[in-house]
Amino acid sequence: MPELPEVETIRRDIDKEFVNKRIRKVDVTGGRSVRRHQTIADFVSRIEGRKLVSTRRRGKYLLLRLDSGDVLVVHLGMSGQMLRASPKEPIGKHAHVVLTFVGAPQLRFVDPRTFGELFVTAPEKLEEEVPELAHLGFDPLDDQLTWTRFAEMLMARRTKLKPLLMDQKFVAGIGNLYADEILFGAGLRHDRNSDNLTPQEIRRLYRSMVETLQEAIKHRGSSLADEQYRDLFGDVGEYQGLHNVYAREGEPCRRCRSTIVRTRANQRSSYFCPHCQI
Ligand SMILES: [Zn+2]
Repeated sequence: MPELPEVETIRRDIDKEFVNKRIRKVDVTGGRSVRRHQTIADFVSRIEGRKLVSTRRRGKYLLLRLDSGDVLVVHLGMSGQMLRASPKEPIGKHAHVVLTFVGAPQLRFVDPRTFGELFVTAPEKLEEEVPELAHLGFDPLDDQLTWTRFAEMLMARRTKLKPLLMDQKFVAGIGNLYADEILFGAGLRHDRNSDNLTPQEIRRLYRSMVETLQEAIKHRGSSLADEQYRDLFGDVGEYQGLHNVYAREGEPCRRCRSTIVRTRANQRSSYFCPHCQI
């Protein structure tokens, strides 16, 4: 499932490739991908002829601002991809929405598992449409917190670190994969309590969160064995080769050579080094 680094990688490329370009035509073949709209025609009419003026990311949501003032919201779900393609390239069966730009290639929303979605809304209605956005926590890339503030927030929550990092109301954009990598970088176990960290551990956690996500963006995100995450150009990410713990059960820790361990809790796997993480 795409997390902050993957969504941010796609956003930056869409920004470079499609901002200031006008959408000439919209084709929707999968109604499920625009399910918030009463009709496909309603979705199409709010986008066709509009120019894309800016891009933004909030958590795992991509917000594409149109010159009408509306926002085209994209959520990739489990397997969604935003692909740049030439109109000449054959359209695959999972390409549910195709935006054709004037004098530019197409932007195709491809989603085999159809958990992802696109919809158009007025900016002031956004948080009503997506209540998750109204309660979104701080953004590790956009918002800088002081150590003191971060420490206060951890103390106030009294919960285990991994579910806390994945709680979108606490911090936006982190899922299972990056939570494990961040905790390794901080030298902390997934089941440590948030209100029981030393000042040094709090700083390590904050620093690892920012640095891990920035590194992952620098390496264009992570594609797992299923290769479902693709960037705008259809390429896999490069960060998976640099994972320290995620999906590395039984392999040696890159730092201490101990064996990476996997545990399961609440139907979710956690990977960690029993020596480096305490
Ligand atoms: Zn280790």
